[in-house]
Amino acid sequence: MANLTLSGTTKIFDDGGEDIVAVNDLDLDIEDGEFVVLVGPSGCGKSTTLRMVAGLDTPTSGTISIGDEPIQNKRPQERDIAMVFQSYALYPHMTVRENMSFGLEESTDMDDDEIRETVEDAAETLGITELLDRKPGALSGGQQQRVALGRAIVRNPEVFLLDEPLSNLDAKLRAQMRTELQQLQNDLGVTTVYVTHDQTEAMTMGDRIAILDGGELQQLGTPMQCYHEPANVFVAGFLGEPAMNFFNLERDGDLLVSDAFRYELPSEIATAVDGKTDVTLGVRPESVEITDEVDESEHNLIPATVDVVEPHGDENAVHLRLGDSDQANLTVMVDGMRYLASGQDVGVRFPPDAIHLFDGATGEALHNRELTNVEQVEEIGTAQSA
Ligand code: ATP
Repeated sequence: MANLTLSGTTKIFDDGGEDIVAVNDLDLDIEDGEFVVLVGPSGCGKSTTLRMVAGLDTPTSGTISIGDEPIQNKRPQERDIAMVFQSYALYPHMTVRENMSFGLEESTDMDDDEIRETVEDAAETLGITELLDRKPGALSGGQQQRVALGRAIVRNPEVFLLDEPLSNLDAKLRAQMRTELQQLQNDLGVTTVYVTHDQTEAMTMGDRIAILDGGELQQLGTPMQCYHEPANVFVAGFLGEPAMNFFNLERDGDLLVSDAFRYELPSEIATAVDGKTDVTLGVRPESVEITDEVDESEHNLIPATVDVVEPHGDENAVHLRLGDSDQANLTVMVDGMRYLASGQDVGVRFPPDAIHLFDGATGEALHNRELTNVEQVEEIGTAQSA
């Protein structure tokens, strides 16, 4: 068991004379036994990062270490790492048993009995004992995924690398495998890096998540920290479904002003935007309150019109137009039993303790929502990783 450290790790591809910076000066310290999810949009550098750790790509600069040992110059087979690919990469002409045994036969000095025992133990852990004599073509996607995991587990590596391993499964199986994988990682206690573009997977599976954009690390933290205390507009908008609402506003003293509405900041929050003229206000769909009455005398109550209501069952996503806007520019989640009609005039409140403020020029967070109990958030984070 060991920690995995990336330090100043950079990868620049030469694409016909043009430099493509896939990963830029990445620092990551992943603790022994930790489950870290690398998440971000397509092209942000997730797979390149994983491939550099596996030894399939060579960093242009920077180091990668397992424990105290730099590994960036070692060949893939010399690194104590097992990788599971999105495509599973099983050998079609081999049985499940042969697929799982192959790596052990090639790269260890285990004898046949030891290999058989190791494979059968892993198969039992994964609930695939009855599949050992089948070939991959005769397995469902979920079963193939388990075999691919089994092949990684038998190697008993220092580090597991998982590249979008659940993306070929249907939604129900994906949810089930998420839980199983987490449990398995927890039981094995192997340092794990998991790549996905799916923010739900990142939020629900990682002890910590590393959010990348344009090859650069945007934030590394527990899911709760990244969700409630985003480092910048990108992280705030990337995590959460529906996404956080953003408004670009001009500051005039304690007032934030746009064509659609004015919002007065309480003085204790206003100090966070001292010296800034362009401010982005963010508020999550679940934090906005909708009133049926439009009481114009109420401080900070913003008139709005319901545009479209999308029923989600337990909740409804309500899309609204603020002020004179001719298209929906605010999404609010309300209880599924609450009835709001398209065209209805309502008032909306952005509770001051739930707003986020970002620098309008750089996107950096200036103020994050006030958590009623910070320890509570940390406790939730700790419970998730336990
Ligand atoms: P996805 O989710 O789509 O797989 P990703 O976050 O894993 O994306 P990478 O595959 O790491 O992104 O790619 C990062 C950037 O590097 C992209 O701009 C990509 O086009 C570029 N890139 C990746 N591999 C190469 C290569 N072999 N040659 C040139 N450019 C590359």
